[in-house]
Amino acid sequence: MRRFPKVELHRHLEGTFPVGRLFELSLKNNLNRPRDFEAFRREVTFPKDSSPDFLAFLSKFHTDWYRSHDDVYFITYHSVRDLVDDGLFYCELRFSPEHFALENDFDREEITRLIVSAGNRAAEETGLNLRYLLTFNRSKQTVEQMLALYERLKRLALPQIVGIDLAGDEINYPPEGFQALFEKARADGLYKATVHAGEVSPPAQIWEAIRSLHADRIGHGTSAIEDPALQELLKEKGIALELCITSNYQTGAWADERNHPIGELYRRGVPVTLNSDDPFIQDTDLTDDYLKAVRFFGFTLEDLIQLNLNALKASFLPPEEAKKLTAEYLARVDAFRRACL
Ligand SMILES: [Zn+2]
Repeated sequence: MRRFPKVELHRHLEGTFPVGRLFELSLKNNLNRPRDFEAFRREVTFPKDSSPDFLAFLSKFHTDWYRSHDDVYFITYHSVRDLVDDGLFYCELRFSPEHFALENDFDREEITRLIVSAGNRAAEETGLNLRYLLTFNRSKQTVEQMLALYERLKRLALPQIVGIDLAGDEINYPPEGFQALFEKARADGLYKATVHAGEVSPPAQIWEAIRSLHADRIGHGTSAIEDPALQELLKEKGIALELCITSNYQTGAWADERNHPIGELYRRGVPVTLNSDDPFIQDTDLTDDYLKAVRFFGFTLEDLIQLNLNALKASFLPPEEAKKLTAEYLARVDAFRRACL
């Protein structure tokens, strides 16, 4: 399962750090965190046996890891290098420039350029197909601040950045407050949009993310299972859900992994994709989510391939590139099949 080629659309750079590298950074920067590795791991991750809690989960994202540009480069490079160990073939890795820049007031444009360059180098070295999404955090910035940052980052004109994302506390900051940013991005036509919605909120927020923010994909959207009319809309418009079995359990979005809605939504023909979200915080990886899909929902190899074809179809790549990558993906799957026989 680890070697099975995977397409992942929903993974946060801030949530995918190799914990050993982060420990090195913590010691080097003399941070106020445990100096014993196991104690460190326990403190910085959301242990598998903790009770689900959305805000406690979000509280694990610290912005004080980095003291220099080199630190940001180091952790990005190693995070991307490790993605192939999880079988990743194509990834739309999202990051929040604000997260990396905040503590030291680094220049946001420089930090964005640096992250893309570190990630590109690691991707080239490992043969990973990689693109980026810019995450805006709804509880950390006002929509005016987001718009100002968006305008600056847009000027970087980095073709590897293919979309924007709205993340963070969806309970207290519903989608409609961020319409100005998404209207602007839509008018520019440079980026596609994904919005975290319906993770710990009712299906009405998913409707709203589609209506007000023109979301091309929905981050999580677990509550779509409650709303057949919404499922029809997702099918009709080809709006994919970026579901994450382990993460959805840990944040309290879904109470029992064994009846997570991905199984039922897939069978109803809703475009669903399988993702890890924040594997480092979750103390797990995407391979584990795939194993759960097999164990809990009886997904066959053909089903897993279909999930990945759904993801390629919903990717933010230009259509020609998506087509080319899909052909490469199918060749990779054939090689995988032969290796398994
Ligand atoms: Zn997420």
